[in-house]
Amino acid sequence: MKLIMLGAPGAGKGTQAAKLSEKLNIPHISTGDIFRNNIKNGTELGKKAKEYIDKGMLVPDELTISIVKDRLMQEDCKNGFILDGFPRTIPQAEYLQKALNEMGTDIDHVVNIDVDDGEIIKRMSGRRVCPNCGATFHTVFKPTKTEGTCDLCQAKVIQREDDKEETVISRLKTYHEQTEPLIDFYSKKGKILTVAGRKEIEETSKAVLEVLGV
Ligand code: AMP
Repeated sequence: MKLIMLGAPGAGKGTQAAKLSEKLNIPHISTGDIFRNNIKNGTELGKKAKEYIDKGMLVPDELTISIVKDRLMQEDCKNGFILDGFPRTIPQAEYLQKALNEMGTDIDHVVNIDVDDGEIIKRMSGRRVCPNCGATFHTVFKPTKTEGTCDLCQAKVIQREDDKEETVISRLKTYHEQTEPLIDFYSKKGKILTVAGRKEIEETSKAVLEVLGV
């Protein structure tokens, strides 16, 4: 199955894509993860992407499109894939359509996870990560046992630059301006399946599996 996960940042696309990837045994392709890995490894792509990501802006289409193109050509994408965080703009969606047409294939479904802005801000601004071991926490939903300290390795947890409230607000603005029009783009093609992004991850997963009929 060839799927796109759509939704605002923090709606839970990544979590649901990871679960679906395991269930359907197809790769989970997250452009955000690809950028973060490149930043961690100090590559040229990472250096360029970081400038935009830290400000809550989108990485330019040329850069993003080229990494997705390379990834979709790999052998493991033949039987399907789940795109998470791509496309995020109409030009990216048009590029994807063209690339898939050239490969003689198409997207099967676009799963749109719907969560309102207030809930997103609450979810994202409470997120904390451990810079040492990568564990993730949440001040409200998954607090550390000792305030500010990683449960696993005792390092001081931090807030990711792009999870800061002002950055989250600017990411939401970018989402509404540039990504939300994709709902209409894919609706016109009859591909959209909308699911309410509930607080409980398991409830959302159930709803996703139900709309996909798997
Ligand atoms: P994510 O983990 O999907 O929320 O992505 C983190 C950040 O990476 C985003 O806020 C953007 O700055 C950048 N990014 C990820 N995917 C894309 C994309 N398709 N187009 C442009 N920028 C992207």
